[in-house]
Amino acid sequence: MTPARICVFCGSSTGARSAYADAARALGELLAERRIGVVYGGGRLGLMGVIADAALACGGEVIGVIPQAMVEQERAHTGLTDLRVVVSMHDRKALMSDLAAAFIAMPGGFGTFEEFCEVLTCTQLGLQRKPCGILNVCGYFDPLLRLFDHAVEERFLRPEHRRLVLSDEDPAVLVDRLSQFEIPVVDK
Ligand code: AMP
Repeated sequence: MTPARICVFCGSSTGARSAYADAARALGELLAERRIGVVYGGGRLGLMGVIADAALACGGEVIGVIPQAMVEQERAHTGLTDLRVVVSMHDRKALMSDLAAAFIAMPGGFGTFEEFCEVLTCTQLGLQRKPCGILNVCGYFDPLLRLFDHAVEERFLRPEHRRLVLSDEDPAVLVDRLSQFEIPVVDK
């Protein structure tokens, strides 16, 4: 089933290659064209700002969720469909998760890794049944995907849980896979 909204986690920087911003733009446009709303961290910096602007320019719905402290630092995007201001980073993650039916991580730093691993853990534990995917632009996430494989080899991760991580370099293929993915019921 096509998700009504996808939450995108991505860098507050644009990274070292123009390909990262190109991919954020492509994903934003694709989601808007498919009438899939974007939920994200509400910032205007880095890939976050790029994806929000691209989806808005194509008439898409973009909901930002940002803690008060970050608004005050003038990092909030002021042109969104909706900007939800929350108290804490914990509140932000909870609301972003409530608003979306699936998640995509794009290249980013600690914030992106942490947000993605949290929603993945919730899906693994069966606390939610929402697919989680990685847009693997220029192989950025290859080392992380190798670490996940290593965790399976070392028996910290079950193969069926490793298979919960969808990844693709093409935004359209990834969104199709997220839409079609049936989350298996697996005991942790
Ligand atoms: P990072 O990957 O460390 O650049 O952090 C990006 C992620 O953390 C995004 O998905 C946001 O939800 C959150 N984040 C980090 N910095 C900001 C910021 N200045 N404004 C809004 N959200 C941010």
